[in-house]
Amino acid sequence: MPNSSEKPPFPAGIETLLTHAGRKPAQHAGFVNTPVYRGSTVIFETLDALEDHTIRYRYGRQGTPLTTGLEDIISELEGAEGTVLAPSGVAAISTALLSCLSAGDEVLITDSVYQPTRDLADSVLARLGISARYFDPRIGAEIANIVSDTTRAVFLESPGSLTFELQDIPAITNALRGMDIVTLVDNSWATPLFCRPLALGADIVIHSGTKMFVGHSDVMMGTVSANARALPDLKKTHRSLGITASPDDSYLTTRGMRTLAVRMAEHRDRAMELAGWLDAQEGVLAVLHPALSSHPDHALFKRDFSGSGSLFSFVLPPAPRAAIAAFVDDLTLFGMGYSWGGFESLILPAKPDKIRTAVPWREAGNLFRIHVGFEDMEGLKSDLAAGLARYFKATGM
Ligand SMILES: *Cc1c(COP(=O)(O)O)cnc(C)c1O
Repeated sequence: MPNSSEKPPFPAGIETLLTHAGRKPAQHAGFVNTPVYRGSTVIFETLDALEDHTIRYRYGRQGTPLTTGLEDIISELEGAEGTVLAPSGVAAISTALLSCLSAGDEVLITDSVYQPTRDLADSVLARLGISARYFDPRIGAEIANIVSDTTRAVFLESPGSLTFELQDIPAITNALRGMDIVTLVDNSWATPLFCRPLALGADIVIHSGTKMFVGHSDVMMGTVSANARALPDLKKTHRSLGITASPDDSYLTTRGMRTLAVRMAEHRDRAMELAGWLDAQEGVLAVLHPALSSHPDHALFKRDFSGSGSLFSFVLPPAPRAAIAAFVDDLTLFGMGYSWGGFESLILPAKPDKIRTAVPWREAGNLFRIHVGFEDMEGLKSDLAAGLARYFKATGM
């Protein structure tokens, strides 16, 4: 359920927002873009000014006009009360979780979560006396049956960025209403263009800005946006931990935001075309893409999302490692690598069954994750077709 305090979505229109928000040419000699501010020390002219805590910029760690501009764009997009920046998506996740968890608390996490989020919970958070429990990503309103007296946060990632199950964010946040529990959502896949978790009832939304916001595989960036309820603790924690994003990285992320709408539309269309094509290839066991009508969460997708991202997975029949190598080693357009969100297509073989702890991964076979970039579609298809042929040959199929 939307909070009554929620701002209406994009009053100016989202494309206008992305091109105009967060910049003030008149304050920068007329130049279109806010320049990179490099700064630690801020000089105060008088003792009165030094003691005036309403002055926005008092020290470099508290941000600059450039970082404020970037925060403002993201807050507007997410319908958030405020946003903080972090030097990576994982730093954004740790800042967000530390803002709402203390020793003795418990966090519930979707079993489909990005693996480093799980690593953070199982290592640092565990060491601080914060326990983590993992739940079926498709739990929905049943989440109310598994919360305990010490549950203070629920962490979602919808869809999971490897296995693509969706979570029913409205059902989960409704079930938790009135409890002292903060709901966090990693929204890196959809971006606020295609899903707005705060309007669906969540308190905090996190991005690996490294991915779609930056869009060019050249910057690490993280963002955390919060509603009015969660923002004070988030800001306090962010400030106390000394988390900042670098001036150049903030500049490049801001630049990425200017083209986010056109890039996302193109990524959406290309990923859907390639997913449909793969689905039709003989021997492909499953294509895990929420926009396909065959996806088990497709109805949820249609209800809560207005578009789909660049990233999806597909599953090939069980085969030895040599077949996986035969597929990926000789691809010419798809690079093999972690991360995603750039202009170039990527592929990544992965083993979700080795990561899960709450619900076993049931797809037998080898999973490959794809990020669809901006190469010619026919070239991408023939690259994959040749890879599939090598895979099946090595499998003896
Ligand atoms: C990459 C990623 C992160 C982490 O972001 P970094 O910027 O690489 O630290 C978090 N969540 C998801 C879903 C990701 O894909």
